[in-house]
Amino acid sequence: MTTIQWFPGHMAKAKREVQEKLKLIDVAFELLDARVPMSSRNPMIDDILGQKPRLILLNKADMADEAVTEQWIRYFRDQGRTAIAIDAQSGTGVRQIAAVAKEMVKEKFDKMRAKGIKNPRPVRALIVGIPNVGKSTLINRLAGRHIAKTGDKPGVTKAQQWIKVGKEMELLDTPGILWPKFEDEDVGFKLAVTGAIKDEILNLQDVAVYALRFLSVHYPERLSERYRLDNIPADIVALFDAIGRRRGCLTAGGGIDYDKVADIVLYDIRTEKLGRLSFETPAAWT
Ligand code: GDP
Repeated sequence: MTTIQWFPGHMAKAKREVQEKLKLIDVAFELLDARVPMSSRNPMIDDILGQKPRLILLNKADMADEAVTEQWIRYFRDQGRTAIAIDAQSGTGVRQIAAVAKEMVKEKFDKMRAKGIKNPRPVRALIVGIPNVGKSTLINRLAGRHIAKTGDKPGVTKAQQWIKVGKEMELLDTPGILWPKFEDEDVGFKLAVTGAIKDEILNLQDVAVYALRFLSVHYPERLSERYRLDNIPADIVALFDAIGRRRGCLTAGGGIDYDKVADIVLYDIRTEKLGRLSFETPAAWT
């Protein structure tokens, strides 16, 4: 897991770096976490990418609620954008990327052909996204080999290279790293719940409270099943207590060890012990 300190100067620099790279490419791949597509989105992305053709990739779809991911794909389609669900880790969906990208830039390449260029060059692409959304994993997957992760080490620069993806696509080997929307507390919690933000940054119990509140409303049956609870207490402390008792999370004094309960709940979420979960639906954005 990577953590990057973002300061206004760093953000301006990150934006500038992405915009420099945009000059080299035909299409940008905006990588989002399928479980939290809005919270894993850079707040200035429209401004940063401008008119550059963009393909939205909903990554980690293997961990997201399939029905909700479908809703997100429709949501983006209604906005005139193309989104596809992928799992960069196993490779599911990754093969469609080049074909869809090619289709998105067809007009530009048709124009090149009309100007007499017989064999236009491969379509050139760049991956952009916030830390831990899966950029390196996707680059390695598309490259079919391991490409060293250098993009987020300050001061470490190297010449950018093109990675060949089949015959028809080339990908910049360093992704564009953008910042999430920090101002919004909900965003921080969702990124923490899904593991995109290090556990030391937010209080673990607060993160677990957030997660349990969400699950109580949206996935109560999963909680009942996992922790063998006949009913889900509406009171959050009572819910902690109930899970703690089931799991034997006790302090020396015989009380409930809330840190332990928080650990267990977050571990269960991040390792899919509670099944595939989405923490955002388009309903809140329409
Ligand atoms: P980056 O900071 O954007 O380059 O993110 P990484 O490629 O380092 O990925 C962050 C974490 O997410 C790693 O632990 C990856 O193994 C994991 N990961 C990336 N893509 C997927 C995916 O599609 N599914 C799942 N389950 N995990 C993924």
